[in-house]
Amino acid sequence: MTHSDLSRRTLLGAAAATASLALTSPGVSAPPPGTANPAPPSLTPNQALAALKNGNRKFLAGEAVEPARGGRRRRLEIARAQYPIAVLVSCSDSRVPPELLFGRGLGELFIIRNAGNTIDTVAMGSLEYAVAELNVPLVVVMGHERCGAVAAAVSVVENGTTYPGSIGRMVEPIIPAVLAARATGTSDLLDASVRANVSRTVDRLRRFSEPMVLDRIKAGRLRIIGARYDLDDGNVNFFDEGTGETR
Ligand SMILES: [Zn+2]
Repeated sequence: MTHSDLSRRTLLGAAAATASLALTSPGVSAPPPGTANPAPPSLTPNQALAALKNGNRKFLAGEAVEPARGGRRRRLEIARAQYPIAVLVSCSDSRVPPELLFGRGLGELFIIRNAGNTIDTVAMGSLEYAVAELNVPLVVVMGHERCGAVAAAVSVVENGTTYPGSIGRMVEPIIPAVLAARATGTSDLLDASVRANVSRTVDRLRRFSEPMVLDRIKAGRLRIIGARYDLDDGNVNFFDEGTGETR
């Protein structure tokens, strides 16, 4: 690469970053022009949560995602760096795509998905990267109604069901949530297990994460909360909204 190439790229990058200032939606500030590394989080945890709640309201109302969130200009705007507003730990279920449920577009959600929205080493490292390197201010662990992975774990507990391949080991981390839900005497074990699975993960993250996560919670720069998506009505119900200081 020649010096002139480099200069041209730098200029183009600065121009793209400048353009992003005009494109960014209200409440989501853009990185400074020419910045190569992630800037400090531009949203507070509460602002990020409000943005997700507002996006879900738009999804429920049937409003399309704004073109600016998914178009070519937006792609160019974020090509050099990402500034997602939230980490979503959610299920792989095809009916639960976070961007659509929250009315978000390119570069807005850092998504960790697997069947049953559990956190293994890979998921934990991904979460830590998003929090520590990208300064994401909000982590949402989201289960959903009639989750097949949780249903499989319920069947292990209730019927001693075994599964082929890696499916059995995959649902193992969900079994303690099923046992906890069953101990409450609930009449809807599957849904109680979905919520317990989320709550247990939220609690574990708040209490046993690395300092890179815990220090941000203590400083008020990060919130970790739970949510449940309702397949029937499209509503995301947030719960376990404590900051980590109160519960
Ligand atoms: Zn699921």
